[in-house]
Amino acid sequence: MKILYIIPLAIMLSCCSSVKNQTSTGAEKLDNQLLKDVEVLSSDAYQGRKTGTKGAEMARAYIIDRFQKLGLKSYPQHVNYAQEFTFNSRGGTKVNGTNIIGYIPGKGTNVIVVSAHYDHLGVVKDDVFNGADDNASGTAGLLKIATYFAKNKPNNTIIFASFDAEEMGLQGAKAFVANPPVNINTIAINLNMDMIGHSDKSELYVAGTFKYPELKKYVDTTRKEIKVILGHDDPKLGHDDWTNQSDQGAFNAKNIPFLYFGVEDHKDYHKATDEYSTITKQFFSDAANAVLEVVKSVDKQSSLQQSLKDKMRMTDNPQKMNKF
Ligand SMILES: [Zn+2]
Repeated sequence: MKILYIIPLAIMLSCCSSVKNQTSTGAEKLDNQLLKDVEVLSSDAYQGRKTGTKGAEMARAYIIDRFQKLGLKSYPQHVNYAQEFTFNSRGGTKVNGTNIIGYIPGKGTNVIVVSAHYDHLGVVKDDVFNGADDNASGTAGLLKIATYFAKNKPNNTIIFASFDAEEMGLQGAKAFVANPPVNINTIAINLNMDMIGHSDKSELYVAGTFKYPELKKYVDTTRKEIKVILGHDDPKLGHDDWTNQSDQGAFNAKNIPFLYFGVEDHKDYHKATDEYSTITKQFFSDAANAVLEVVKSVDKQSSLQQSLKDKMRMTDNPQKMNKF
């Protein structure tokens, strides 16, 4: 039976490829730097990057080195990109966290915040929870996007925010929006990545267009190499509404429009097996490209701020849980 289906499909594909031009080649090449960033950050030496640990400090040193080499600027109120903050853990103890904030200036006053948390769960019993997908993958995606805009200057100022303490309740993102390095009213949108490196079904979800339907135009859902799916953002979905489950939730709480990029839970989610060997490498490369294309598309619009704020829908019942 299968063969019967395959033959007409093959004819159809060869027909289409001769009609269309040859630009749609499906999966692109693996991005070696992207993979290297994940491999390093999720290696055992980094001990799972738990907030307040030596491993988290090592991760910061790695990201700061990459920021410096890319020529990202640091705001004067941050020493060498570091935004330090303090919060109370769920157990009530005081914890110090450090965000890493770099930026590339644009032509106008609008600001896009591209974000991804770098912290993870650390060592649990004797297992290192390496957090390759969660969220070394988003961190590497952020570095890839920064690399592009370091060479191709953006219209809007782009802040690259590598947040700490997401796993402890979006603490780094909350500290950022409570004390942003720019006037908060100039932040037009947050584009947040959390788990973009592991999907056996090649599915990347984009949440945020339920609340902000006008953002749909920036997301290409017709990509050939992976499935880009809008969703997980309707409050009726309950826990499957991801609106407030990663760092974009802190921006949402300030009524800043957002798009969140990530995959559905997989067998290695919040397990010691979320390590470099279980990253689906082709999907990851393609997903990071897809996110970069969205950021480029958003940045093309220089009057972003007004257009988004004018159309903003003020609804929603923020949930406090974070899933990622
Ligand atoms: Zn996460």
